[in-house]
Amino acid sequence: MKKIIQDYIKEELAQEIQPSFRAKQIYNWVYHKHADSFEEMANLPKSMRSELAEQFELHPLVQVSKQESRDGSIKYLFRLHDGHTVEAVLLLMKEVQYHEDGTLKHHRRYTVCISSQVGCKVGCAFCLTAKGGFIRNLSAGEIVDQVLEIYKDQGIPSNHRVNLVYMGMGEPLDNLDNVAKAVKIFSDMDGMSISPNRQTISTSGLSSKIERLGKMDLGINLAISLHAVDDELRERLMPINKAYNIASIMEAVRNFPVNQRKKVLFEYLVIKDVNDDLNAAKKLVKLLNGVKAKVNLIYFNPYPGTEFQRPEPEDMRKFQEYLLSKGVLCTIRESKGLDISAACGQLREQKLSEGVGR
Ligand code: SAH
Ligand code: SF4
Repeated sequence: MKKIIQDYIKEELAQEIQPSFRAKQIYNWVYHKHADSFEEMANLPKSMRSELAEQFELHPLVQVSKQESRDGSIKYLFRLHDGHTVEAVLLLMKEVQYHEDGTLKHHRRYTVCISSQVGCKVGCAFCLTAKGGFIRNLSAGEIVDQVLEIYKDQGIPSNHRVNLVYMGMGEPLDNLDNVAKAVKIFSDMDGMSISPNRQTISTSGLSSKIERLGKMDLGINLAISLHAVDDELRERLMPINKAYNIASIMEAVRNFPVNQRKKVLFEYLVIKDVNDDLNAAKKLVKLLNGVKAKVNLIYFNPYPGTEFQRPEPEDMRKFQEYLLSKGVLCTIRESKGLDISAACGQLREQKLSEGVGR
C-alpha cells in the first residue's frame, strides 16, 4: 500500500525526500494550492513527481456524502481506505459582515469539528459514537485530510482563519501520538498555518494523557468533558471515571500549560433531571476554585433509543446565571447541525450499505 503524504510532519518528509527543501514545496502544493496530483507540482523535477506518485497517495479520504443544516453547518461523511467511515462537521459560526461604509468587517467564521478515531473505547452512556464500539485509530493523515477535503469542497482559501476542535468521533487522547502530529501538520507555516491556539482538544479526562499532552507543550487549548461534579454520577455517565476520577483530572488540569490569555474549557453536558440542578452548579463553582476555567454548558442532544432528555432552557439559564454570579465565565453552546444529526455526540460510523450518499 502507498504511504500517505499527510501522515508526515514537514521534518519527517524532509528526511524521506531528497533534497529536503522539496518537502517545503510539497507542503505548499498539498496544503496551500490544494493539489490533486503530484503531476501538478510544476516546480518539482518531472522524475521526482513520478517517483512520488509511485510511493505516495495524496488523499486518504473519499467524500461519501454531505448534508447541510438549516443553520449553514455541513456534515461530511468520509470513507477510509479500509471501508470504514468517519464524520466531520463544518460549523458556520458567523456570516461575513461589512461596516456601514461597505468595507469588510470580517470573513465568514468557520469551526471545523474533526474525528480522531473510528468509534470510541470510552463508552459514555449519553454518546452515540460510543454505541458502535471502537474500531481503530485514525492516522495523522486521516485526521488532517478531513479539513483539507472540506477546504477543497467549499473553496475555502488556505489563508482563511478557521478554528479546529477535536470533538468529532473518538477520544483524541486515546490516539495522542497521531493527534499531536496532526496538530503540528495543521499549524505548519508552510501548510495550513492553523495556529495551535486556534485548535482545541476535547477529552473525557484521561488524566495521565493530559499530563503527557501538557509536557508536549504544543500550545493547543484544552477542553475537559466534565459533565458531573461527583464521582458517583460521573461513573454512571462516563465509565472512564473509575480509572481517572475528578480529583485526578483537576490535578492534571492544574499542571497543564495554559496560554497566558486563555483558560481551560470545562464542558458540562446538561441532561434533564440528571445534572441540571443548582446543587450541581454550586459544587461546580467549588471544584473550579483557583483554576483558570470557563464553562460551556451543552444541551444534551437526543437520538433514537436514548434514555436521556434534553434539559429545559429555563434550567440551563438558571445554571448559567448561578455560575456567572459567582464569577465563573459560562456560556451556553448553541447546538449547531441538530437537524442533520451533526451536533455534539451525534456522530457515528455508518455502514455504507445503510444507504448513505443519497
Ligand atoms: N471524546 C472527546 C471528544 C469528542 S465528544 C470528549 O468526550 O470530550 C465532544 C463533546 O460532545 C464532548 O463534550 C461530549 O461529552 C459531548 N457529547 C457526547 N454525546 C453528546 C450528546 N448526546 N449531546 C450533547 N453532547 C454530547
Ligand atoms: Fe468517546 Fe467522547 Fe463519546 Fe465519550 S463522549 S464515548 S469519550 S466520543
